[in-house]
Amino acid sequence: MIIVMKSGAPTDEIEQICEEMRGRGFTPEKIVGSHKVVIGLVGETRALDPDAMQDVSPWVEKVLRVEKPFKRVSREYRHGEASEVKIPTLNGVVVIGEKYPLTVVAGPCSVENEEMIVETARRVKAAGASFLRGGAYKPRTSPYDFQGHGESGLDLLAAAREATGLGIITEVMDTADLEKVAEVADVVQIGARNMQNFPLLKKVGAQAKPVLLKRGMAATIDDWLMAAEYILSEGNTNVILCERGIRTFDRQYLRNTIDLAVIPVLRTLTHLPIMIDPSHGTGWSSYVPSMAKAAIAAGTDSLMIEVHPNPAKALSDGPQSLTPTQFDQLMKELSVMGHAVGRWPES
Ligand code: PEP
Ligand code: MN
Repeated sequence: MIIVMKSGAPTDEIEQICEEMRGRGFTPEKIVGSHKVVIGLVGETRALDPDAMQDVSPWVEKVLRVEKPFKRVSREYRHGEASEVKIPTLNGVVVIGEKYPLTVVAGPCSVENEEMIVETARRVKAAGASFLRGGAYKPRTSPYDFQGHGESGLDLLAAAREATGLGIITEVMDTADLEKVAEVADVVQIGARNMQNFPLLKKVGAQAKPVLLKRGMAATIDDWLMAAEYILSEGNTNVILCERGIRTFDRQYLRNTIDLAVIPVLRTLTHLPIMIDPSHGTGWSSYVPSMAKAAIAAGTDSLMIEVHPNPAKALSDGPQSLTPTQFDQLMKELSVMGHAVGRWPES
């Protein structure tokens, strides 16, 4: 349930309502929008009558029920306003959100060695990326494939940050590694395979770093939003949703089926910012540019693109990785698209 306050409602009036709601056993959350303050009420609100709640204060404009199973992530919970995720990096604060310029995240699938990660970081930064991605802990289908360098991979990411100032996005697979990962990561990634790892979701929800939540490969939109709800319910509201393709029946030509229709759908359902990953979404580098452009046209807030200095020799996901030169070219093309939709960052 949400209590929408009238414009100009005094702070002490809002505090008093929050206090009263706490007294009634609910958890009130104050959400300050650009025009209005909304109080989100979490708890057993089913028995409450929204009309009767209206009388709590003359400053209450209306009281509405959030009908969706996901509450804190729902668009209604913020009375229709988008939220944004502000990420401090050495190069300044990067904001990912619906009202902000597009953010591009780029880098290899896995961190392989210092030279390749630093070189990739330099190249993607020069091309206009704001974040370096790269896995130190890799979720691989085969236990015999490269599993990532783990902790020493995190050190290499830290070195790449020092060299370039780029923000770092890297995956955590295990609750036991979260502290170490969060020390280096500016955004902690939950991969598709862990989207419903509820203990892990709760743990990233209870720490301060922003979270990139990738869509599970067989997850419905509701499953995905409920997974995000786990994170918000622990207190961390800085969540970005990343579409990375889902499993459909045809795997002959595409690794996954990238679901770009989620962009307008998510806009109606949630206030959270959106990222699209056309690399995992298609599995082939030659298809990445067209899907990246389509994602911009459809209104994504950010993109994640795999880039490797030598894709033919990559230890993971080579076929879907662009070379730095291809990424350079793609960024030029994306800037045309980005300007057309009024969302390309000033250089
Ligand atoms: C990744 O981004 O490195 C990754 C493993 O992606 P996903 O979880 O989407 O498969
Ligand atoms: Mn990958």
